[in-house]
Amino acid sequence: MGLFDIFSKKKLDTGLLRTREGFLSRLGKIVTGKTIVDDEVLDSLEETLITSDVGTETTMQIITNIQKRIEREKKLGTDRLNEILKEEISSLLIDNPFSDFALPPTPLLKERGAPYVILVVGVNGVGKTTTIGKLSHNFKKAGKNVMLGAADTFRAAAVEQLGIWAKRTDAQIISQGAGADPAAVAFDTVSSAVAKKMDVAIIDTAGRLHNKTNLMSELSKIKRVIQKVVPGAPHEVLLVLDASTGQNAIEQCKQFTEVTQVTALALTKLDGTAKGGVVIGISDKFKIPVKYIGVGEGIDDLQLFNKQQFVASLFHLTSE
Ligand code: GDP
Ligand code: GDP
Ligand code: MG
Repeated sequence: MGLFDIFSKKKLDTGLLRTREGFLSRLGKIVTGKTIVDDEVLDSLEETLITSDVGTETTMQIITNIQKRIEREKKLGTDRLNEILKEEISSLLIDNPFSDFALPPTPLLKERGAPYVILVVGVNGVGKTTTIGKLSHNFKKAGKNVMLGAADTFRAAAVEQLGIWAKRTDAQIISQGAGADPAAVAFDTVSSAVAKKMDVAIIDTAGRLHNKTNLMSELSKIKRVIQKVVPGAPHEVLLVLDASTGQNAIEQCKQFTEVTQVTALALTKLDGTAKGGVVIGISDKFKIPVKYIGVGEGIDDLQLFNKQQFVASLFHLTSE
């Protein structure tokens, strides 16, 4: 394990501290004075998972799987409960196909001079702009040229905030100020990224459209104009969700997946929340990979999600 890996593992462990403490202390209480996993233990386990924001359906799935194990193995010692839960949770989490911040191989895109286009969506305040800033930083570190597009034109502050991240991460930015048509900004961003031979274009959007029809039409319009410039784009639609809102994050995921094809998730603000269990529920329910997790407000506080590391950290076991 390199220095950087140790550093990011520490960050993850700290980020999941409150989730882990709540979860493990409750698990500990369940098995106190118990030697085998019986109905009573399963009932308490169900309650613990639900109160850890894993979600009802995913919790039921986990309980059913453990019941099946008990049937197969006749007896299940409570000393094995942690290990078994770890296995069950891992099997529900979707593998993140990406293992580093360099972009997925896009030689054809490069040949055609097209950038990898990421459209970032999500409701107001979840951490879209911050995540874009952190992403830009990571892409830059991986040697990529980054173009940002300020298509959240609803507030002047939103445009300025992205501008600050562009400066900090030495990325280029396209903006037309507040009140501009978001689709026009997206068009300019991608066109400029093509002209300047950028590796990646990341488009920020407003999450404020109050009804589904508005949201859908705005996002489809943005996609349509991007495709005029780069057919097949956006290559990634990243939905940002605030993990600290627990079940609300699940509800937002439902809403956004109904209006647009979300290809990856970023779960922010895992630091300081006890609701980290929501990562498990969302991954299981929507079958969309959690690609990134946010473990702080700083520029280095975005991690590529790794399910082995996540589960190990949740149970505080050392991962190699
Ligand atoms: P947006 O409205 O979706 O663009 O959200 P912003 O990027 O403006 O973020 C809203 C707030 O959440 C800001 O104060 C960010 O610093 C904060 N934030 C974003 N990601 C994280 C995270 O992973 N951890 C913590 N603690 N705060 C975060
Ligand atoms: P409020 O009166 O401050 O709540 O503003 P509204 O939500 O009623 O929106 C006022 C105008 O801004 C309407 O024409 C909306 O279509 C538009 N609007 C609202 N939210 C967004 C957004 O997130 N993006 C964009 N581009 N326009 C928005
Ligand atoms: Mg923003």
